[in-house]
Amino acid sequence: MGSDRIAGDTIAALSTAQGRAAIGVLRISGPDAGTIAARIFRTQRGEGLAPGIPGLKPREAVLGWIVDPERDLALDRVLVILFQAPRSYTGEDLLEIHAHGGTRNLADILDLVLASGARLAEPGEFTLRAFLGSKLGLTEAEAVADLIEADSEAAAAVARRQMKGELGLEVQQLREGVLEQLVELEAELDFPDEEEVHRLDRGQQLARLAELSQGAGRLARSTDWGERMLAGLQVLLVGPPNAGKSSLFNRLLGDQRALVHEAAGTTRDVLEARADCQGLPVVLIDGAGWNEQAEGLERAGQALLDRRIAGASLAVVVLDGSQALVPGLPALFERLGDLERVLVVNKIDLGRVLESEAIEQLSSGAPCLELSARTGQGVDRLWQDVGQRLRARQQPGPLATRARHREGLLQTSQALDAATDLIEQDSQLELAAEELRLAVRALDRLCGREYDGELLDRVFSRFCLGK
Ligand code: GDP
Repeated sequence: MGSDRIAGDTIAALSTAQGRAAIGVLRISGPDAGTIAARIFRTQRGEGLAPGIPGLKPREAVLGWIVDPERDLALDRVLVILFQAPRSYTGEDLLEIHAHGGTRNLADILDLVLASGARLAEPGEFTLRAFLGSKLGLTEAEAVADLIEADSEAAAAVARRQMKGELGLEVQQLREGVLEQLVELEAELDFPDEEEVHRLDRGQQLARLAELSQGAGRLARSTDWGERMLAGLQVLLVGPPNAGKSSLFNRLLGDQRALVHEAAGTTRDVLEARADCQGLPVVLIDGAGWNEQAEGLERAGQALLDRRIAGASLAVVVLDGSQALVPGLPALFERLGDLERVLVVNKIDLGRVLESEAIEQLSSGAPCLELSARTGQGVDRLWQDVGQRLRARQQPGPLATRARHREGLLQTSQALDAATDLIEQDSQLELAAEELRLAVRALDRLCGREYDGELLDRVFSRFCLGK
């Protein structure tokens, strides 16, 4: 896909999910949308449309039939809506066919559309065209994909804010700020005679550059939370064997089974499932086998464990409350490093043997919750506690959500810092101006003012078909 696909051919795809449903929507975008409609659509009274756009009034839903003209076969009774360029999602002529949602039915209609001159759209190609047609910015386009993927309140909220342009606006403001500084510096280079005046402004200029660099840096750091909002906050269940990690894993998911599905790419010894923790997207990880590794049995296992710890947002350390403290725990705590943790004393239905003091000593005062994975007692409190802890890390203000945002913002702040250094030395102002130009370019790529095929592929290949 990418820039080589800018050519204005006509594309089509099913925009709703595959499978049985009351209705399914097919979209056709491009210059031939109207011609294709004229070929395959008949009104209720069986009349064909005049070829081209005039046969359908833009933005008016018209009831009629999809007919295969070759076989004179009526396939389905449908609603069609024409959005005429440029007032459509893609900015091109765009036809929506609202048909009945059977898999076979939709496949037949799509085949007919393709046989009538359209090409099957690539994933994300409608939104790519919307971007190329200046219908929406690059970060807004990314948010469209995020909203489709969102399976929790918080993830949807992040996507909606970005789709409304919050991130795009922030980047825009940074860009304008840097441009202002660049213009000033260029004036200084063009009119060196007014050196005295420029000197007086130097302090202000440096302060403004520092402010801009901090702004870019803050936004770059927000990517951490933004990415976790989309991918899910990883909560790792760890502890000695038989402490009840798997039972707790099932119990935590059991109450919300509807929200759970197995994540792709799970390994045999680590189970993962997505869950909704008070509106936050969570990936719950059952680190079964974890403890054996902590005792130093397998190097591969250790590496796996470290990766899990590095990516996790929180550890829930599960201990068996019906037994005395098992050896090897200090190593386990050490392994967790500075990962925030909640301690859980499980199996309280069996009576408590394990002493709180012993654990608190070990855990340097981390709070300790009692529960029973078997009866469910105390499990809601744990889940609430997990939610609160995760929510406490929430970042205020606009969020960046992708590695490419982080990269662009870091490039920006680095270039701004380099420019600051050069200006402070009061020499090589040409080079400082070049650094500011680099910062502008990084922001341009971030918001899509400047792009190439590679950037477009990187953004749009994540989309689903028909979007
Ligand atoms: P894991 O090895 O840490 O994943 O532990 P499991 O979840 O497999 O549990 C080990 C054993 O402890 C199983 O026999 C469970 O039925 C039992 N178990 C787990 N949680 C509880 C609990 O809260 N109360 C009681 N009585 N037994 C439990």
